[in-house]
Amino acid sequence: MPSPFFYQSLPMRVSFGAGYRSKLADEVNRLGLRKVLVLATEFQAGLAQEISDSLGELSVGVYSKAEMHVPIETARDAQRCATEAGADGCIAVGGGSTTGLGKAIALEYGTPIIALPTTYAGSEMTPVWGLTADGEKKTGKDPRVLPASVIYDPELTLSLPVDMSVTSGFNAIAHAVEALYAPDGSPIISLMAEEGVRALVTALPNITQNPQHIGHRSDALYGAWLCGATLGATTMSLHHKLCHTLGGTFNLPHAETHTVVLPYALAYNAPSAPGAVEALRRATGAQNPAAYLRDLSIKLGAPASLRELGLSAENLERAVALATRNPYANPRDVTQEGIRRLLTAALHGEPIT
Ligand code: NAD
Repeated sequence: MPSPFFYQSLPMRVSFGAGYRSKLADEVNRLGLRKVLVLATEFQAGLAQEISDSLGELSVGVYSKAEMHVPIETARDAQRCATEAGADGCIAVGGGSTTGLGKAIALEYGTPIIALPTTYAGSEMTPVWGLTADGEKKTGKDPRVLPASVIYDPELTLSLPVDMSVTSGFNAIAHAVEALYAPDGSPIISLMAEEGVRALVTALPNITQNPQHIGHRSDALYGAWLCGATLGATTMSLHHKLCHTLGGTFNLPHAETHTVVLPYALAYNAPSAPGAVEALRRATGAQNPAAYLRDLSIKLGAPASLRELGLSAENLERAVALATRNPYANPRDVTQEGIRRLLTAALHGEPIT
C-alpha cells in the first residue's frame, strides 16, 4: 500500500536520441525564439561554435566563459552579453556549470533555456539555480530557470573522460537515492529513481570498458535523465547538504565529493529508510546497497576518501558544525555525533559493512 503523497509534475519536454542535436533548430522555432545565445565553458567553446553555426541566423553567437558554481561576475558578464546581442533565449551546451549560467540569465530576464547536457549532473531537469558571490554559493528555486526543452544526445557524452563519467554518474545516482526517501517523494518519482539507478550501475562499468560505445552512453544518459528528474521533483536531504557544505566551504570538487560521500550518507540513513533500501536492492541486485556503491565506485577508479579530495582532519569539526547548524528533513535524526562518525569514515574511506 502506498503511503499518502502529493505529486505535481514539472513541465518537461525531452528529446532523446543519438544525433538529436540536429533537432535543435526545430526546438528553437517551436519556442518561437529568433535570436539565441549559445553558452558553454571555454573548454567546450568549439562544440558551442558548431552548434551555433548549425543554427544559422537563429544564433547571435557564443558565450564560452561558463565556470563551476556560477560566479556572480560571470553571470553579470553573460547577462550583459545577452542583452547587447538582443538574445531572446539561451542554448546551454555542457554540464551543470553551463546550464547554471543559462539559469542565471533566465533568472534575470526570463529568457527560456534549451539544454543539451554533456554530463550526468542533472541540472537541466531542475528549477534550482545557484550563484556564488564572495565565496558563498546561494541557491534558490524558480520555475523560470527550468529549461523549456532538453535535448539528450548521447553522442555529446562520448568525449566525457572515463573518470568524469564515473563520478558524474554517481552524482546522478545520489539524486535518486535521496529522492527515494525525500519528504516530498511519491510512487512515480520512486519508480524513476529506481530505474535511473539501475540504468547507471549497469552502464558505468560498461563505459569504463568501452567509452566510445553509443549504447552504453545512451544507457547512462537515460539514467541521468531519470535521476535528474527526481532531483527536480523532490527536496534533498543529508547527503546533498553534506556535499554542499564540503564543496562550498572547503572547495572540494563537485562530482567526486558526491561519489565519496554517497555510500556513507546512505549507510547512515538506511536503518530509517527501509523502502528506499528495498528499491536500491532491486536496482543494484545487492543486499547492502551502500557497501555496493562504495565498492563499485572504487572498482571503477573513483577516489575512495575525502582525504584524497583534499579535506584534512583539522577541517572535520568545522564541517560537522556547518552540516548540523540548520535543521532539515532527513529520514534519520541528524546528530553531531552521527555526522562526526559519518564524515570520519568518509575522510578515511573506511569500508562499509
Ligand atoms: P561541469 O559542468 O562543471 O563540467 C566540468 C568540466 O567538464 C567542464 O570543463 C566542462 O566543459 C567539461 N565537460 C562537460 N561535458 C564534457 C564532455 N562531454 N566532454 C568533455 N568535457 C566535458 O560539471 P558538472 O558536474 O556537470 O556540473 C557541476 C556544477 O553543476 C556544480 O556547480 C553543481 O553545483 C551544479 N549542479 C547544479 C544542479 C542544479 O539543479 N542546479 C544540479 C547538478 C549540478
